[in-house]
Amino acid sequence: MALDGTTPEELREAVLWHLTYTLGKDAGHSSLYDWRMAMSFALRDRIVEPWFASTRKTYETAAKRVYYLSLEFLIGRLLEDAAINLGLRDVAERALKGVGPAFDELVADEPDAALGNGGLGRLAACFLDSLSTIGVPAHGYGIRYEHGLFRQRFEGGRQAETAEDWLRQKHPWEFERPEVAYEIGFKGQVHGDFWEPAESVIATAHDMPIVGWQGKWANTLRLWAAEPTELFDLDRFNAGDYAAAAEPEALARTISRVLYPDDTTYAGKELRLKQEYFMTSAALQDILRRYFATNSNARDLPKHVAIQLNDTHPAIASPELIRLLMVRGLTFEEAASTAERTLNYTNHTLLPEALERWSTWLMGNVLPQHMDLIERLDDRHRKAHPNRPKSVGLVLNNEVQMGTLAFVMANRVNGVSALHTELVKETVFADLHALHPEKIVNETNGITPRRWLKLANPPLSGLISETIGEGWEADLDRLQALEPAIDDAGFIERFSAAKRHNKVALADWIRGTMDIAIDPDAIFDVQIKRIHEYKRQLLNILQTVSLWHRIRQNPNGDWVPQVRIFGGKSAPGYAVAKEIIHFINDVARTINSDPEVRGLLKVVYPPNYNVSMAERLIPAADVSEQISTAGKEASGTGNMKFALNGALTVGTLDGANVEIREQVGADNFFLFGLTAPEVVARRRIPDHARLAIEASQNLKDVLQLIAEGVFSPGDPERYHGILDRIWHHDYFLVASDFDGYDAAQGDIAQAWKDQGHWMRMAARNTARMGYFSSDRTIRGYMADIWDVTSAM
Ligand SMILES: *Cc1c(COP(=O)(O)O)cnc(C)c1O
Repeated sequence: MALDGTTPEELREAVLWHLTYTLGKDAGHSSLYDWRMAMSFALRDRIVEPWFASTRKTYETAAKRVYYLSLEFLIGRLLEDAAINLGLRDVAERALKGVGPAFDELVADEPDAALGNGGLGRLAACFLDSLSTIGVPAHGYGIRYEHGLFRQRFEGGRQAETAEDWLRQKHPWEFERPEVAYEIGFKGQVHGDFWEPAESVIATAHDMPIVGWQGKWANTLRLWAAEPTELFDLDRFNAGDYAAAAEPEALARTISRVLYPDDTTYAGKELRLKQEYFMTSAALQDILRRYFATNSNARDLPKHVAIQLNDTHPAIASPELIRLLMVRGLTFEEAASTAERTLNYTNHTLLPEALERWSTWLMGNVLPQHMDLIERLDDRHRKAHPNRPKSVGLVLNNEVQMGTLAFVMANRVNGVSALHTELVKETVFADLHALHPEKIVNETNGITPRRWLKLANPPLSGLISETIGEGWEADLDRLQALEPAIDDAGFIERFSAAKRHNKVALADWIRGTMDIAIDPDAIFDVQIKRIHEYKRQLLNILQTVSLWHRIRQNPNGDWVPQVRIFGGKSAPGYAVAKEIIHFINDVARTINSDPEVRGLLKVVYPPNYNVSMAERLIPAADVSEQISTAGKEASGTGNMKFALNGALTVGTLDGANVEIREQVGADNFFLFGLTAPEVVARRRIPDHARLAIEASQNLKDVLQLIAEGVFSPGDPERYHGILDRIWHHDYFLVASDFDGYDAAQGDIAQAWKDQGHWMRMAARNTARMGYFSSDRTIRGYMADIWDVTSAM
C-alpha cells in the first residue's frame, strides 16, 4: 500500500473515472494516450492535497521563500517520477492489470519536457525535486516554450534538426492560470523615472506542482507563456486581410515560441533579450505581488525572500527589481540596496564566449529605463569603490556586461564545483573578487537520487534497499552502509547481475532501434553530453580509431571486447561540433561493418539524446567518459549520475571530477591528462600539437588513416578540417592528452579482465557517491546563500 493509503483498486477507479469524465472515453475504446492522460490526472489529484497543505503551511509560518529563476528546466518525463515520489509506482502498475495497458507503456508514451539544453537546465530540474523533498517553500520560474530543444536525426551521418512539439498533446501536469497575468513592456520612452513602453505582451502563468519524496511537500514550477495584449485586429479582418489580422497575436507569441538551442555561446539577439526580460519581469512582478499581500515594508524584502539567478540569463533582474520597487515608492538607493541583498547569482561557465554582453544600443532600445538604471548602478559601484579597475565596469566598450551586473548586484555569487569556484576567483571575476572577497562561495552541483537511481535503475535500487533498507532515497549518505557488503562475494554477484540486466536491456533497445548487435559482456563505454570541442568527444573517437587499427594489425591479440557509445546534440550553428558528429558516425559505420574486428569493437551513436535516453544508458554503463580539457567543465552532473550507478570514470581533473575522485577513492577512478595549470602552460608552447603528434606513433597512425579517407571513401578531403585543427589550432589539447588517455584506456581493458575486482570498484563508486545528492547541494544554498530552513 502507498503512503497516502491509496490501494490499486482505488487508483483503478480514479483512472477509469478520468477516462470517462475527463477524456470522454469508454475504457474499451481508449488509446494509450487516453490511458496515460487518465493515469496522470489520477496521480496529479494526489499531489493537489500536499500542494495546498504546503502553501498553507508557508503562509501560517510566514516562512522565508526561495525563488529559482532559470531560462531552462530540463525536466524529462513526469509520470513515473510523480508515481515514485508518491510511493505509488507499484500501486499504479497493479491498478492497470487486467483493465488497460502496462504502466511501463504509459511511461514510455510520454514526451520529454525538454525545456533546456543540457546540464544547466537539468540542474534546475534536480533542484526543484530537492527543494520539495526538503520542504523549502520555493517556486521555480521559467518559460513555457512551445518548442523545447530540437529533435536530432542523422542524415548520412550528419545532424539534422526538426522542431520539437511536446505541447501538441495536452500536458497533463500543468494548471493554466489565466487570472495570473502581467503586462511586460518593451521599447518606448523614459520620462524621468517613468517608462512608457511602446510595445507590450501579457505573461500568463502555467503551474506544475513538483512533489517531493514521499509526497510530504509540493512546490510550484510556474512557467510563463506570452500572449498578445490585443488578441486580434478586427478592422483588418473585416477588410479581408486575414493574415495581417492575426499578426499581433503571432508576434507576441514569438517570445515563448522556442528555446534558444545553445547555452555556451552568446548570440546578442534581440529576441533572446526579450525572452530574458519577459520571464524575469513576470517572475518579479509575481514575487512582489505575493510579498505585498502579507508585508508592507519593501525594505524588509530580503528577510522574507531569496532569489537565485541561474546563470546571467535572468541578470536583468537587478534593474527590473529596482524599477518595480521605485514604482512602490522607494528611492533609487533604497531599491538598489534592497535588490542587492535579495538577489544571488550562480556562475556556470568560464568560457569567455558564453558570458552575456548586450550592446548599449540594443539594451537602450529594448529596455530604455533599464539601460539608465544600469548606468546609475555603474556610478553607484564606482563611487563605493573609487579605485576600482576599469575592467569591473558594468558597461565596457559600449556593452553591458551581464556577468559583472549579476555579480555586483548579488548578495552571494557561487561556482558549481570546488575547482570551478577557485577558477572563478582567479580568472573571470578576479578583479571583482578582490573588491568583494566575501561574495564568492562554492556549492558543488548534485543530482536527485530519486530520478537518477530509484527511477532509472530498479535492479540496483532494489539491491540497495534489500542490503541496507529503505531511506537512502532522501539520505544518500546512507549508501556508505554498503561498504561492508562489498567484501561479500554474494553481494558483488548480485551487483554484477543488476548491471548485466541493464546492459542486456540496452543491447535489446539498440538492436531494436538501430539494428546493431552489441555484446552485453563487452565493456560499455559511454560518452553522453552536448557535443562541444571542450568536452572532447574527438579525443574519444580518435582513440577508438587507434584501437581499431591496432586490433586489425594484431587480430589474435588479447583484446577485451568494447562498445563505445556516444550521445548528444550539437548547437545547430556550431559547425565544428557538427563535423565531429559526422566523423563519429562515419567511424561507426566503418568499424561496425569490418569483419576483421569480429565484434571486438563496436561504435554506436543513438540519435536525439535527452533525459529519457540518459535514464536508459547510464544504468548500463561500465565506463563514464568525463574527459574535458581541464579548466573548462564547470562541474558536470553527468559524471555524478554514472558513478552513482556504478560506472567507473575515465576522466581529467576537471569540474566535479576532482571531488568525485576524492570521494570514491583514487583507486576506483581512471585519471589521466594535463591539470588546469598545465593546460595553461602547455598552450604557451607554440607548436604543442605537432610535438605531441610526433611523439605518438599511435596518434600519427590515426591521423594518417583519416587523411587517406579511410572513413570517407570517395571523399578523402572530408575531414581535412578536423586534421588541420588538430595540427594547427588544437586549443583543447586533444593531441597533448592523447597518449595519457590511451594509457588510461589500456588500464581499463586490463582491469576489466578481473571481473571481481572491477565490480568491487564499481560498487565502491555507488557506496561513496552520497555526497553528490542535490539534497546536499540545496542544503548548502540554504545555509550559505539563502538563510532559509525547511518549513516541513
Ligand atoms: C545530466 C544531463 C546533462 C549534463 O551532462 P554533462 O555530462 O554534465 O554535460 C545533459 N543532458 C542531459 C539530458 C542530462 O540528463
